[in-house]
Amino acid sequence: MSFTLFIGLILLFGQPQSGAPQHPCGQVKVVGRLVHWGHRKADHPRKIEAIIIHSSYNALTADSFSVAGVLKEYKGIDVSPHYIIDRDGTIYRLVRDRDVAYHAGKSRLPDGAKDVNPVSIGIELVNTIHDSPTDAQYLSLAKLIRCLKSKYSIRYLLGHSDIAPGRKTDPWNFDWKRFDLMLK
Ligand SMILES: [Zn+2]
Repeated sequence: MSFTLFIGLILLFGQPQSGAPQHPCGQVKVVGRLVHWGHRKADHPRKIEAIIIHSSYNALTADSFSVAGVLKEYKGIDVSPHYIIDRDGTIYRLVRDRDVAYHAGKSRLPDGAKDVNPVSIGIELVNTIHDSPTDAQYLSLAKLIRCLKSKYSIRYLLGHSDIAPGRKTDPWNFDWKRFDLMLK
C-alpha cells in the first residue's frame, strides 16, 4: 500500500462516524433579507480572501439599534455589507457572498491591495460608539466566520479601522482578544 493511499484511508475512515463534528456552517442560522442597493454582480467568480468587521447604528431615529433604520441609512448612500448582526445575535444576509458589496470604501489590505470590496466579505455589528457588541453578537459572529473560513481561503480577518486607518474607527469597542479565543 502506498503511503499516500494509506494516509487517504486514514482520512476517509479514521474519523469516528458517530459524534463527528458538525460542519461549521451547520451551526449558523442566517435570515435572508436581501437588499437591492449597495452591491453589484462580480465580473468573475470571486476569490474571497478577507473578512472585514464593521459596526453601524441607526442615527435617523432614537432607536440606535434599529436594523430597519440602519438599512435605510445604507440605502440612502448606496452601501451594504454582506451580513448584519442584530443585538440579539440574529444574522441577516443582505448581499450574497458571490456579489461585490460596497462596504470597505477607500481602504487597503495588508498586502497593498486597494480594491478591497471585490475580494472581501463585510459583516456589520449593530453597535454605537458608546456601546459594546453583545455576547449574542460575538457568538453569532464567531459561528458565521467559522463557516466562511470553511468555504473560502481567508487570509485576513480585520476591522474596518485596520484597512482604513485615520478614516474609519469601527468596529467600535470590539474585543479582539476575546474574539480570537472564541474562534479557536
Ligand atoms: Zn465600517
